[in-house]
Amino acid sequence: MSLWKLLQVSSAIRSSARSASYLGKVKYDYDLVVLGGGSAGLACAKEAVDNGARVLCFDYVKPTPVGTKWGLGGTCVNVGCIPKKLMHQASLLGEAVHEAVAYGWNVNDQNIKPDWQKLVKSVQNHIKSVNWVTRVDLRDKKVEYVNSMGAFVDPHTIEYSVKGGPKQQATAEYVVVAVGGRPRYPPILGATEFGITSDDIFSYDREPGRTLVVGAGYVGLECACFLKGLGYDPTVMVRSIVLRGFDRQMSELLEAMMSERGVQFLHTTIPSSVERQGDGRLLVKYRNTTTEKEDSDVFDTVLWAIGRKGLIEDLNLPAAGVETKNDKIVVDSTEATNVPHIFAVGDIIHGRPELSPVAILSGRLLARRLFAGSKQLMDYADVATTVFTPLEYSCVGMSEEMAIQTHGPDNIEVFHGYYKPTEFFIPRKSVRHCYLKAVAEITGDQKILGLHYIGPVAGEVIQGFAAALKSGLTVKTLLNTVGIHPTTAEEFTRLSITKRSGRDPTPASCCS
Ligand SMILES: Cc1cc2nc3c(=O)[nH]c(=O)nc-3n(C[C@H](O)[C@H](O)[C@H](O)COP(=O)(O)OP(=O)(O)OC[C@H]3O[C@@H](n4cnc5c(N)ncnc54)[C@H](O)[C@@H]3O)c2cc1C
Repeated sequence: MSLWKLLQVSSAIRSSARSASYLGKVKYDYDLVVLGGGSAGLACAKEAVDNGARVLCFDYVKPTPVGTKWGLGGTCVNVGCIPKKLMHQASLLGEAVHEAVAYGWNVNDQNIKPDWQKLVKSVQNHIKSVNWVTRVDLRDKKVEYVNSMGAFVDPHTIEYSVKGGPKQQATAEYVVVAVGGRPRYPPILGATEFGITSDDIFSYDREPGRTLVVGAGYVGLECACFLKGLGYDPTVMVRSIVLRGFDRQMSELLEAMMSERGVQFLHTTIPSSVERQGDGRLLVKYRNTTTEKEDSDVFDTVLWAIGRKGLIEDLNLPAAGVETKNDKIVVDSTEATNVPHIFAVGDIIHGRPELSPVAILSGRLLARRLFAGSKQLMDYADVATTVFTPLEYSCVGMSEEMAIQTHGPDNIEVFHGYYKPTEFFIPRKSVRHCYLKAVAEITGDQKILGLHYIGPVAGEVIQGFAAALKSGLTVKTLLNTVGIHPTTAEEFTRLSITKRSGRDPTPASCCS
């Protein structure tokens, strides 16, 4: 049977189901329609089906201005966490090869270089395998998947069209909006013609070369760092501060670590235009907003990392009456919008952490509440996160500033220390930025409000501490915990110096 015939038949079945609804048998085509097949949407759809719901999930990726597109699974799998971690790993391996010489390995060619095209191919092959597994998983779980944009016609009806075919409609008792976001482009000359974003870099078919990364959020810093580690020459353009929203001291340390490794920074600077020169390279004009000085430089690649916008524009939300705020959807603690049967989860929600595990857990919990009688709400507090720079930064809980703002400076104690990872000694790696701190209440057993760590494998270190912090970890318990030696995570169990004491937090040796 041809695809069109199949579509017509399935459409006929649905419209007969719809007419049946008016006879009082089945009210809607589906119990749940999910808009968006990323971390949040897929988790929600699969959990709903597991709990007996009839689910239809839409996912569609609009190509970027330079034509990059990808498969099912959303940002994390295709153009986010996964390819980013793989490129990060590739760049760490370059560093490790050089360290290996100090450890006695005979590495004959010290001028080793990565093969960008080969790296991109390996990364893309992995992504394609994940896309495939995701599709098979949906089929096995009996989640109906349609590769199309979905938009509201009314609060219970979604309109879509497959591969430019006729418009079709599906109705559902509940609708979950999980459409995520996409990178922003600055409104300047040449931005979309000549610039790329994180949506393009992981499948970029030519070497990035000298790259201007515009934006100093975690995506910008991570991209700049893996490019540096792979032997390219990145410059980060910072409008105001690096890592807005993160702990200031840790962010500044991270920037210093990047500078030490040769990443350039252009501070208080914004771009004005991008033009392609005769030699194919990109002339970027920019302005320092402190000095008002205008300047320009030439790059091979310009990567915009100036933030992401929620994808509400194609949803026709006014037809459903859903409230939005700054291109995001406003929800309550049950992820319900102002329209009670329409929910939103993941990056599209206003004012919640934009992280894949947050999207997954909130999607799953929502499905359980809708179809399994659960009452459990998503807890958005104390979500751990990691910035994947060469020394990684991971944290959970409050920044020092937030703790001071919330509890007052006299009610906070900050325990801190620099440390020397054992494995750094032989290759003589810089330990200047290996630092950690615990932000705690000053009284009683000193409940810990935030933990911050810069060093190797930061995400692995902080993940376990995140569970402890969520369970009410105190400084007393932390210091009563016997460390695993020799690790860097054990440094948390040895935090004895407070900032207030003014004592030097630099250790004499690795085991002091
Ligand atoms: C470079 C980068 C690195 C990241 N690294 C990390 C990390 O290390 N750790 C981490 O936890 N998070 C990371 N994130 C964030 C993470 O990727 C997101 O938080 C997560 O993907 C959000 O999931 P989501 O389901 O809300 O949205 P998405 O994954 O974006 O999925 C939404 C899907 O819906 C589709 N869609 C949009 N509109 C419609 C429509 N109208 N109809 C049908 N489909 C539609 C979209 O094309 C997309 O496929 C990173 C993000 C980026 C950009």
